Amino acid sequence: MIRFSSSLFNRPALFICAGIGITLATTAVTVASLYEMRLDAMAQARVAAQNLVISLQNEIERNLDMYQLAMRDVATSVGTTSIVGLPPEVRQLVAFGSATNAKELGSLFATDATGKLVLDSRSVMPRKLDVSGRDYFQIHWRQKNAGLYISAPYLPYTAASGLPQPRIALSRRLEDKNGDFAGIVGGTLRLSYFRQLFEHSILGRHDTITLLRTDGTVLMRQPFHETDIGKSLAGGHSFEPLVQADHGTYTDIAVLDHIERLYTFRRVGSYPLVVVVGVATDDIFAGWRKRAIAIGIVSVILDVLLILLSLMFSRQLRKRLNMERRLQRLAWFDPLTGLPNRTQLQREALLMLTNGKRNGSTLAVLFIDLDRFKRVNDTQGHAIGDEVLSEISRRLKNQIHTGDVIGRLGGDEFFAVLQECDVLKAKNVAERILRAVCQPILINTKQDTRITISASIGIALSPHDGDEPGILLRNADLAMYRAKSSGRNQLRFYAPEYEREAKEQLELEIALQRALRGDALHVVYQPKVDATGVLRGVEALVRWDNDGQGSIAPDRFIAIAEESGLIAEMDAWVMGEACRQLAEWRAEGLEIPNMSVNVCAADFKHPDYPGFVTDTLKSHGLLATDLTLEMTERVLFDESVDDIRKTLDAIQALGIALSIDDFGTGYSSLSYLHRFAVKELKIDKSFVQGIGRDQMAESLAQTLIHIGEILKLTVTAEGVETQAQRDFLGTYGCHLYQGFLFSRPLAPSDFACWMRQQSCPSPGDADAKRPEVAL
Ligand code: C2E
Ligand code: CA
Ligand code: CA
Repeated sequence: MIRFSSSLFNRPALFICAGIGITLATTAVTVASLYEMRLDAMAQARVAAQNLVISLQNEIERNLDMYQLAMRDVATSVGTTSIVGLPPEVRQLVAFGSATNAKELGSLFATDATGKLVLDSRSVMPRKLDVSGRDYFQIHWRQKNAGLYISAPYLPYTAASGLPQPRIALSRRLEDKNGDFAGIVGGTLRLSYFRQLFEHSILGRHDTITLLRTDGTVLMRQPFHETDIGKSLAGGHSFEPLVQADHGTYTDIAVLDHIERLYTFRRVGSYPLVVVVGVATDDIFAGWRKRAIAIGIVSVILDVLLILLSLMFSRQLRKRLNMERRLQRLAWFDPLTGLPNRTQLQREALLMLTNGKRNGSTLAVLFIDLDRFKRVNDTQGHAIGDEVLSEISRRLKNQIHTGDVIGRLGGDEFFAVLQECDVLKAKNVAERILRAVCQPILINTKQDTRITISASIGIALSPHDGDEPGILLRNADLAMYRAKSSGRNQLRFYAPEYEREAKEQLELEIALQRALRGDALHVVYQPKVDATGVLRGVEALVRWDNDGQGSIAPDRFIAIAEESGLIAEMDAWVMGEACRQLAEWRAEGLEIPNMSVNVCAADFKHPDYPGFVTDTLKSHGLLATDLTLEMTERVLFDESVDDIRKTLDAIQALGIALSIDDFGTGYSSLSYLHRFAVKELKIDKSFVQGIGRDQMAESLAQTLIHIGEILKLTVTAEGVETQAQRDFLGTYGCHLYQGFLFSRPLAPSDFACWMRQQSCPSPGDADAKRPEVAL
């Protein structure tokens, strides 16, 4: 699994932002380049229009200049004195000759002061025409300084052939030698000349070329519409600069067709004419628009792809991060309860300890262990066990403050670290936890099922009990262990002697293990006699001579054996030894009716305990009836009670007798006596020894005998030390007696001597040689 260590990779949103950022940037660049391209298109169009307008202007100017020259020639010919005297026909001929140069454009003519044609380039003889009504004649007639006048378009009086062609006239005033009006010299120009000129120059469908008089009168416009000719454009808002400047460019919406164009204009030399080329902005931008659309589409596709990619990438990343987080959770948190696990707890505890050290504050760690949780699992199943654990962890979480931490170490063990916590506060929190855990737990999956459980809590304080998480955890564990062994559902603070004791315990455990493998264990035997003093059975009791420490009380080392799991092995050895001894004694001729062996819950958890017992009996030639198993009531309240019950049933089926040891000190639930066909009740020595001293003990002993009587069980009193005790018990019908009054537990040879009391005058006392701590 790849781990993304970079913080960048921890933020999937960054990739979306980056995607959007890049998209915006590329969009901005695209828009800017499109804008640039648009400006370029406009600049190119402007240059093209300017070039066109220049060439048109040059062409028109050149032709008009030529025309003017021809007109001047005509004027000169008209005014030449040498010619004046000539008859009109001759003069006409001269003029005709002068005008041929300009014939392609139109015709040249001259009038007298009344407007009658005196010269006409179109015919050898001037036509009989009067132009005094024309605007160009009127202007010159009225104004002395009209200069070169360009007329408004008009139709000729006569058409040479077909339809009359509109035309304009260029005219100048003629004066006699006195400076008085003598007529005009003029030239007509067919507008079709401009039309052809413009037609050849036109660029696009919506482009225009217009020839204007400076007063705004349209002389020609391409595309050609007859109605446009003669219209006035004066008054439009672009008109003023158009006629005032020599040349220029502007954008405007046409008055004539309402199309927006880029207009480039130029004055035709010194003539009162302006050529205007208009290029439709739509056309200018047509190519650009196509490209812009293509680029736009591509850029949108790319942007969408980019955003999709960044979304996909960030989604992938998010998935991966979630997975990583889940893995981290698994690594640091307990999946069942969601609480921090051991690793996480240690990290947090270390952090809190470091902070505590810095601030000089105390810190408490609580080791919380549920009591008999295994029983819940065994009797209710693991699913309900899990429900219980989840509910308990919820309750635990509710009992601690923010800033404190609680986690699960595993199984039914929890661990809390409380910061800035003194003895009192730790005690309060622990008591609260004990109360919270004790509340019945309603199981959701099984209606009406309520489970009640308790906890044992060990507390260690830092820095007093340690300043490292590991040490505090161990010390709290030791204290918890003490709380458990003191009866559960309570709290204990760590004390240094716990550690010493734990160490000793461990040393004893190791020594016991060694003893079990070696030959440091042996068995002693205590007789059980009836009211007449006849031997009815023997109890086998284990002894351990520890090299270094002398004899160790069975109560102590048996507890150690139970806790360390050595007990089953030890009991098996005792069972073998006791059976062997019984067989040996019988072989020696001693009549010993029955052997009692002490057993505990751990023995019954052996996979095939009944098989083992059968094999042991068989290997020594004994019968099931030769053996009695003594067990305390505790066995029936063990966590694995179901397995134990099965084993007990099997043992009972074999015909081996069961005896309830220390009867009256435990749970004393009478139903099991019947359920397991118990044969014997052993009244605990504490009651026996209270006889004569303690009323309560006496009446209890009495009651226990009574119970045995009712249930038809053999009642054996143990720990009978005095005759008074013996007599008291005898009065109430006790069946068997065991105790120092009859014999201490004896080594095998001593026991044999005890049997042959008469022949063996002073029997050795095994426990007397090895003083018993418990006695
Ligand atoms: P228990 O089964 O109740 O055994 C009787 C205990 O009372 C023995 O203690 C015995 O020495 C003691 N005793 C007998 N008569 C008298 C008396 O007159 N006065 C007094 N004060 N004590 C008397 P012991 O041998 O120390 O054993 C203690 C317990 O250890 C036994 O109690 C039994 O529960 C357990 N135990 C002993 N041997 C074995 C064994 O092989 N396996 C297991 N699982 N437990 C054993
Ligand atoms: Ca016993
Ligand atoms: Ca006992």
